[in-house]
Amino acid sequence: MLTARTETEPYVEAATARRGKAYVCRVCGAPVVFKPGRTRTAHFAHRPDSGCAQGALMSPAHLRAQEHLAAGLRARGLSVALEAPLPGAAGDRRIDVLVWPPDRSGARVAIEVQASDITVGVIEARTASYEQAGVAPLWLRLLDFGALKVVQTLPLRATVWIERYPARSWERWAHDHLGGRLWFLDSGADRLWRGLFVAAHRRRDRGLMKGGSGEPSTRAADWTAVDRWVDLELEGPFDLAGLKLRRGVAAGPDGRRRPCAWFVPPGEEQQSPPFEAPLRVRFEAERLGDSRHLEARLEGRWVPAASDGARSDWRTVRPAARSLLATPRR
Ligand SMILES: [Zn+2]
Repeated sequence: MLTARTETEPYVEAATARRGKAYVCRVCGAPVVFKPGRTRTAHFAHRPDSGCAQGALMSPAHLRAQEHLAAGLRARGLSVALEAPLPGAAGDRRIDVLVWPPDRSGARVAIEVQASDITVGVIEARTASYEQAGVAPLWLRLLDFGALKVVQTLPLRATVWIERYPARSWERWAHDHLGGRLWFLDSGADRLWRGLFVAAHRRRDRGLMKGGSGEPSTRAADWTAVDRWVDLELEGPFDLAGLKLRRGVAAGPDGRRRPCAWFVPPGEEQQSPPFEAPLRVRFEAERLGDSRHLEARLEGRWVPAASDGARSDWRTVRPAARSLLATPRR
């Protein structure tokens, strides 16, 4: 964990803690050990047999992400509290990073750094308890992007394109119910990305069959929607320093409206959810089955969005954009 207290101070962050001082857990009151950071993020740890849940499941990447967010948001003049108590939350669960403008303490945002899997029931209940507390949540998917396979780009949109991303059910829930986007933090490069989920489909080729006049059909197939994956568009990478934090209300597919929060990249006008989807999948009937097309909305119309290979530095450099005029007609 990143915070503890002393006899006289109710809140101390590990980044400013000192060796030799006596620190205790803010939740259970047991003595904790201060671990200064050299290769890892400075933090506090319970003794092995403590039985306290606070900080028990925090990976080094999680601690680093919390610290990175706190430092970046403070540099923007925002107030930040780590491991903040959430009134009414079962099990004394703490908010990873609580943020608010210094002059508007009512406009609070809870940034939850999520690397592990949780059920839809858990994220729904957590979101409801934020709502009761007047806090807008921003669920941030922590992922080492080095683990992503077959990375492509969509040059028309200057974005990264990942087919068959195995989205967890909580990620889909957060995406669909809290504005239509999910923000990612690449734990290997400390960069932020805005993710858009596009329905994924599995194809069953009909290419080996012959058409009515005997010619082989190579493109057409039968397509079925798959729940295990989504196709993922990633916009970025963004540095935290360039992002603004906003809060608002989004309506989910269940018709409920919930508070939510999101980042606004530099140069973008301020929008409110639901954010429009700039990509869609369209099926076209062929002689045998259908063909599937990915399309992007550009300058008010839908155009074919061909994918291309990604450069090796895609995790740190935004892909080059290709203009609509330069796209060869197909
Ligand atoms: Zn404790």
